[in-house]
Amino acid sequence: MDTQTAMTTMGSVDPKTRFVGALVLLGSPGAGKGTQSKVISALYGIPQISTGDLLRENVAKGTELGRLVKSVMESGVFVPDVLVQDMLAKRVRDGRDTDRGFILDGFPRTLPQAQWLDRFLEGWTAEVYPGHNVPPVVINVAVGYNQLLRRLTGRRSCPTCGRIYNVYFQPPRIADLCDLDGSNLVSRRDDCEDVISGRLREYETKTMPLIEYYKSRGALYEIDGDQELDKVTAAALKIVENADRS
Ligand code: AMP
Repeated sequence: MDTQTAMTTMGSVDPKTRFVGALVLLGSPGAGKGTQSKVISALYGIPQISTGDLLRENVAKGTELGRLVKSVMESGVFVPDVLVQDMLAKRVRDGRDTDRGFILDGFPRTLPQAQWLDRFLEGWTAEVYPGHNVPPVVINVAVGYNQLLRRLTGRRSCPTCGRIYNVYFQPPRIADLCDLDGSNLVSRRDDCEDVISGRLREYETKTMPLIEYYKSRGALYEIDGDQELDKVTAAALKIVENADRS
């Protein structure tokens, strides 16, 4: 869905002036969290913060954090909580783009991370939106197993502009080349089949419990991620639009 179409389905308040707070996109690898985050990000003018992308950036730059996490990430196992939490806190606090809110894509992934996030958001909200109580809005994008496998094994991205393709569902016009800038598309090292099953196992044992955690607090919204992309996007935007931030 393009931004213009999305805006016409929404109310009259300019989404780029609203306080949105923290949005959490839950869902297994391949559920489409990144794709949905990008649409919400463009519409509301708030950043998508993907802990996976931030970690990959650190690996690519060869930072101390990058050196610590490289082999863990390549094996599909989770990086220790405290490393991801510190990295995220720095990104939110140092970024000049987070004052009206941000979208978390791939965080939290464990119960201790979710508990840490609650504490972190209390402090952050007190600074940027004093006097308000804004717990995260959590959207769970649920997708069936076979669909996930095709999404992950078919996923390709452009190293230059970041656009995401899928060789089964959204192929580029010319095989292996980005429609926008002609770069050679790449697949992620952890999107190969033997690593994928480990990543899905990590998700089931460590991240699935978060669904109950947020459900019990009345903060969870569920979307059927097997639907067409535009329907998933429309459902996600409706949730964000109606979230009470008063
Ligand atoms: P993603 O791009 O979100 O699929 O993340 C890629 C990899 O980065 C994961 O398989 C983990 O090794 C690591 N990672 C990303 N986010 C987290 C997180 N919140 N907690 C622990 N590890 C993470």
